[in-house]
Amino acid sequence: MALIVQKYGGTSVGSVERIRNVAERVAKFKMLGHQVVVVLSAMSGETNRLIALAKEIQKEPDPRELDMLVSTGEQVTIALLAMALKDLGLKARSYTGPQIRILTDSAHTKARILSIDEERLRADLDSGHVVVVAGFQGVDEAGNITTLGRGGSDTTGVALAAALKADECQIYTDVDGVYTTDPRIVPEARKLATITFEEMLELASLGSKVLQIRSVEFAGKYKVKLRVLSSFQDEGEGTLITFEEDSMEQPIISGIAFNRDEAKLTIVGVPDKPGVAAHILGPIAEANIDVDMIVQNVGMDGTTDFSFTVHRNEMKKAMDVLGMVKTAIGARDVIGDDKIAKVSIVGIGMRNHAGVAGRMFKTLADENINIQMISTSEIKISVIVDDKYMELAVRALHQAFELEKPVTA
Ligand code: ASP
Ligand code: MG
Repeated sequence: MALIVQKYGGTSVGSVERIRNVAERVAKFKMLGHQVVVVLSAMSGETNRLIALAKEIQKEPDPRELDMLVSTGEQVTIALLAMALKDLGLKARSYTGPQIRILTDSAHTKARILSIDEERLRADLDSGHVVVVAGFQGVDEAGNITTLGRGGSDTTGVALAAALKADECQIYTDVDGVYTTDPRIVPEARKLATITFEEMLELASLGSKVLQIRSVEFAGKYKVKLRVLSSFQDEGEGTLITFEEDSMEQPIISGIAFNRDEAKLTIVGVPDKPGVAAHILGPIAEANIDVDMIVQNVGMDGTTDFSFTVHRNEMKKAMDVLGMVKTAIGARDVIGDDKIAKVSIVGIGMRNHAGVAGRMFKTLADENINIQMISTSEIKISVIVDDKYMELAVRALHQAFELEKPVTA
């Protein structure tokens, strides 16, 4: 007998019929003799609908009241699932976050879980109940309802699995696992049987949005066995997120991520003196703008060009700051470019293999794709390319690193 936490996302509980399907899946695990805790999201689209309502009243909705509002989405699905389970003859009970004291800090709309009172859950599990918990929500010390940030039900699932020392946390979603890249761009993309936490974090932060990134960090920290599976298929093991030492597959590259979230800013003809980078990036930091990649080119004429990327939403703000910097330091021009994309290859195998970067750059060169910026970490190499070559770059790299081929241990 195992204790399993299952989390179902919005599309998996998007209709009454789908909620019944979830109930049947839960029943199967229960019949096998397992104890099951279910964590649910709101019906797909519901959280967006509620946020839109709030914005009709207040342009910047009050965070405390917004949490009060959006937390209702999950209260609907947990009650309906508990009913569906009872309809199948199972014992079930639903609980909101505050009811089982998922205690968080008071950072409304992005709260962090501090503790969970798992006593009550255990008593219910021991008396044969399926416990159904609302994802995404908690309560602060003062009794205010809080939420954990978009996609936060994943984190609720992992946190419950950690608190209960569950044997496994299964995240059911509309994809059947984590792929080497987005199959809509590369049809040959392959489902990974396993991926390490570190790789998953890099892929998630780069735009492979299968799991809320915070839930992956949480699972890594508390050693929760985490598995991503499809709620629409009966077969399949999904993708297991593992620790490096347990990993079966040891490819050099595990996946390719990409996004169009960034914009590039270049300040041209900057007098080349010590302190240039500080003069430019200081005011950017003061304006609270996060910088991702940075490149400085030294020119022949005693001036330099300095480029960096920021989130696309902050391009305008960054341009305004640079306008002022330009006058202050006597630079020639400021150029903004939001027609860029970031493509990254990720793999822990990179640590023990030389020549990965070279192979990446050669592949892009063979396709005549110009690399505008490069950044590297121990397990990731990212490049900025022209937006219109993003898909070509991803396809070429997928092929060059033979990601379509199954890896043997
Ligand atoms: N319902 C919340 C959202 O849409 C939380 C979740 O689905 O994980 O972000
Ligand atoms: Mg989600």
